[in-house]
Amino acid sequence: MRQSKLFTKTRKEAPADEVSKNAELLIRGGFIHKEMAGVYSYLPLGFRVLKKIENIIREEMNSIGGQEILMSSFQPKENWEKTGRWETMDDLYKVSDSSGREVALGPTHEEIVVPILKNYITSYKDFLLSSPLAIYQIQNKFRMEIRAKSGMLRGREFIMKDMYSFHASKEDFENFYNKMKDVYKTIFKKAGIGHLTYMTFASGGTFSKYSHEFQTITPVGEDTIYIDEASGVAINQEVFNDEVLGQLNLKKEKLVEQKAIEVGNIFDLKTKYSEPFDLTYTDPKGEKHTILMGCYGIGLGRLLGTVVEVLSDDKGIIWPESIAPFAVHLLSLGEDEAVLKEAEKVYENLQKNNIEVLFDDRREISAGEKFADADLLGIPYRVVVSERSIKENGMEIKKRNEEKGKIISLNELLKILKNNV
Ligand code: ATP
Ligand code: MG
Repeated sequence: MRQSKLFTKTRKEAPADEVSKNAELLIRGGFIHKEMAGVYSYLPLGFRVLKKIENIIREEMNSIGGQEILMSSFQPKENWEKTGRWETMDDLYKVSDSSGREVALGPTHEEIVVPILKNYITSYKDFLLSSPLAIYQIQNKFRMEIRAKSGMLRGREFIMKDMYSFHASKEDFENFYNKMKDVYKTIFKKAGIGHLTYMTFASGGTFSKYSHEFQTITPVGEDTIYIDEASGVAINQEVFNDEVLGQLNLKKEKLVEQKAIEVGNIFDLKTKYSEPFDLTYTDPKGEKHTILMGCYGIGLGRLLGTVVEVLSDDKGIIWPESIAPFAVHLLSLGEDEAVLKEAEKVYENLQKNNIEVLFDDRREISAGEKFADADLLGIPYRVVVSERSIKENGMEIKKRNEEKGKIISLNELLKILKNNV
């Protein structure tokens, strides 16, 4: 992609009302556009990052047998009345049409997925053979969040991966749930924040004893967690008491307090949603059983925003290679014909080798401005072609998080990138 053709441009300032670091950097870089508090559009650069996150998650969901679907955002009011959440869910958007008919704008999809399944499951033949059954989607959610000052971390419209699993027995559920813990760890590791993300015990409300949150340490996090470094697990402050510590075999004096943001969670739903919709199967003896459920969420925008919060410096973003919008940012400096020709040649070669490259081919932009843009955009490798680099028979390569670059040849560049990307 040529930067001269990219429709977005970097900006010196973010909107005055934007107080969060993640949104400020993402807006200044042209990754996203703010529509109103808690609502953002993804622009080409941001969309590329989003798709990479999506693919990491999709690959992992498929690896444990997940089947991807896409459910509607408009949800029948009757379904929400059945579970009681039409009245109890504070952040539910209720939309009415000109005839006065009300629908919910989906904040989550238990009220949709369970009735869908009910259409297909009655006898053990329909279900026992397919259990565990895991269905997921990656889709926009709507929630009337009171505080929406954390940029991508807390949106009113945001993208979530939500998986729902269905089980004939407790063993089947537990087996699947435990596998999911590892799958989640893999996702956050692949997204570049594994080293800062802890599986955290949280209260499971009235339906199960604990749920597990995946919490990433950052000062802007809304949650407080207590980490046991030795075992790598943590407890949310909300469940922190002597009884819980005893049950989890954790010593108070070994725990470290940190602020953290929940990037994902996994939940034992038991029969909370299958009961109201009478989602059951009949066993070979003719006995009826209510199906057990689990649910598993990850906020994609929140994950993206979290990466920016924790992997950035005062100059801009430092993307992990796995989710960076491009692998290489190629810069041509100055108006010298030999430089422009050489940079074009490098660009062509990178493309031929299927290396994702953003080529800053813009004319009459100073070297300082190009460097500042490269730091703000945070693409992992910066490659500079200049009069100086040509004199030294090569180009300068520098990683975003390195201080100094070095001169290498085109062949060496291709070798480095093919091995790393
Ligand atoms: P929180 O306590 O932060 O409000 P939650 O418990 O309401 O989160 P869930 O309903 O379990 O979250 O949603 C699953 C995942 O969706 C969360 O782990 C988080 O990553 C993401 N998420 C939830 N609310 C938002 C939001 N307003 N904006 C962006 N992502 C969100
Ligand atoms: Mg919430």
